[in-house]
Amino acid sequence: MLLYYDLHMHTCLSPCGEEEMTPNNVVNMAMIKGLDILAIADHNHCGNVRSAMAVAAKRDMLLVPAMELQTLEDVHVLCLFRRVEDLEAFFEIVDGAMLKLPNRPERFGHQLLMDDQDEPVGEVVHTLITSCQLSLSDAVAHVRRLGGVPVPAHVNRSSNSLLSNLGFIPPGEAFTTLEITAGSKGDQFLEAHPELAAYRILRNSDAHQLIDLSERENAIDLRERTLDCLIDTLSIPLMKKE
Ligand SMILES: [Zn+2]
Ligand SMILES: [Zn+2]
Repeated sequence: MLLYYDLHMHTCLSPCGEEEMTPNNVVNMAMIKGLDILAIADHNHCGNVRSAMAVAAKRDMLLVPAMELQTLEDVHVLCLFRRVEDLEAFFEIVDGAMLKLPNRPERFGHQLLMDDQDEPVGEVVHTLITSCQLSLSDAVAHVRRLGGVPVPAHVNRSSNSLLSNLGFIPPGEAFTTLEITAGSKGDQFLEAHPELAAYRILRNSDAHQLIDLSERENAIDLRERTLDCLIDTLSIPLMKKE
């Protein structure tokens, strides 16, 4: 079945995420946009995922537990998991490898933790937009060990992407899926890089405000509407399956 997705958006926990990006607002906007699957992927943290999953469960929306990791190489990787417990186990590793530099909310914005009623329940005080001291290779290994799939994020961007920072896709990491930003810039990038046809491509919004969530435009064909089926599908190399 074709399911419409947006697998990369931030909540008010990300310093760059608007405060309107609460668990209820994000899930409700995804409903309005006609999406079937969404993923919340805050920078180097997962503190709002459980609340958002609780909201999504009430709305019959499939919400993928996720994080946008910034590796030691300053590369952003979208890490998608099957279970929130696996994401939280990954977060423990990530959090232990953060430098814990203080956030400056007046400059970068607050990093708010919310409950499923959109009430603030805390604030992360160390900055989340900095590199974790985990290498790309180690991070990829941890994500896979926990049953997840690592997806190099917004590879069309000129900063914080695998291609901008490393200049190539390391074959040893055996990536199966890459992300480009939804819209014409991402599509033009793909046209200019035919070698990327070997990879499955996700087109995500990377929304930091509600209005930027994807429309019902980008779909993935899944046998069933489950997190296991999504992660399995994204993990299979394109050429071997299709
Ligand atoms: Zn990013
Ligand atoms: Zn992002």
